[in-house]
Amino acid sequence: MDFRAIHQEYKLPTFNRRYIPPEQIEEQIASFGLKGLEIGQSVEERPIRVFRFGAGPTKVILWSQMHGNESTGTRVFLDIFNFFINDRERQKELISNLSLYFIPMLNPDGAEVYSRANAKGVDLNRDFVNPKSPEMKAFVDYVNKIKPDWAFNMHDQRNIFNVSGDYHPATISLLAPSVDEERSMTPEREDAMKLCGAMYDELQKDFSNNISRFTDEFYPLASGDNMQKQGVRTVTVESGGYPNDPMREAGRLSTFASLLRALQVLDSGELEEWDAGIYQKIPLPEKNLCDVLIWNEEMTYCYAFVEDRYMDNGQLKVEFELIEQGELKDIRGYREFKAIEPIDFKNGVHLNMDDISDVSDLLIDRGVNAAEKTIKSN
Ligand SMILES: [Zn+2]
Repeated sequence: MDFRAIHQEYKLPTFNRRYIPPEQIEEQIASFGLKGLEIGQSVEERPIRVFRFGAGPTKVILWSQMHGNESTGTRVFLDIFNFFINDRERQKELISNLSLYFIPMLNPDGAEVYSRANAKGVDLNRDFVNPKSPEMKAFVDYVNKIKPDWAFNMHDQRNIFNVSGDYHPATISLLAPSVDEERSMTPEREDAMKLCGAMYDELQKDFSNNISRFTDEFYPLASGDNMQKQGVRTVTVESGGYPNDPMREAGRLSTFASLLRALQVLDSGELEEWDAGIYQKIPLPEKNLCDVLIWNEEMTYCYAFVEDRYMDNGQLKVEFELIEQGELKDIRGYREFKAIEPIDFKNGVHLNMDDISDVSDLLIDRGVNAAEKTIKSN
């Protein structure tokens, strides 16, 4: 199956932005005619629902947006729903041996205000063991009830991550989470690595320069790490940046394609043909990117800004925060500008796009994006 072509056909045009209010999900789900099963409610009493596709013996749970400002996985799930509902034949071909349990937007209160944490400030991904939040209580109860064989934990990572040894943004990072601090191998973790290898292979088609293996440092309170430890084969997907792609459409496509490929591998029983060694050779990420890099006129000193997205009176605002200045030899920007006259940026300065256009007569847009390997000092 050509998953890129399928995405072209079925991706929902109204989900082309980073901010997805829970209301928009509700409307879309209603228009699909899906009811789902309510497994609990958030702090602010928004429903948390599971949507099931397929009736096969292998159970797969997939959840997104446990961090409210990480919406790419949710957008991908809705694209998959749209595909499954409108193409029953290929749905059957793809998942006849699987039962899929999707939980889009596990943290709807955080999603509403575009925050990582829930309405009480709890990071849900540190609340898996003895959960206190209603969201994670509902989630953990449901996991214990259905006892999945596989799990997919969908996140977004910041734009600062590049593929090591290069300046290509890490548009997608895959992780077979660790089960302990020693990062021990278990049969389940090895299976998750094999599956990541198959996903990596699929991603070679369109994103060969933009794939990394997320750090497998053990997080003792995190959901993926603990599920892997309990024997649920778990893969974490981190969708990330791409040049000229503030809305993460590349992250959306790469996540869609690799996730469907993963399901195809599980359904067809070809997992054993994959080698965990492929996963272990995927390059690690580095943090050598910033969103906007502004050079002084001699190009010997620069200012690195990263984006900060936040809600302000119901509007998603984007500002750029100065995080570092100096020679910054190892840093590249998604966008780089050269100053024609000295600009004195102080620490803590925030820029917004209007500011950049305000000073645009002082700047030359170098047209550099992070996918180009440019020599900075020319
Ligand atoms: Zn996250």
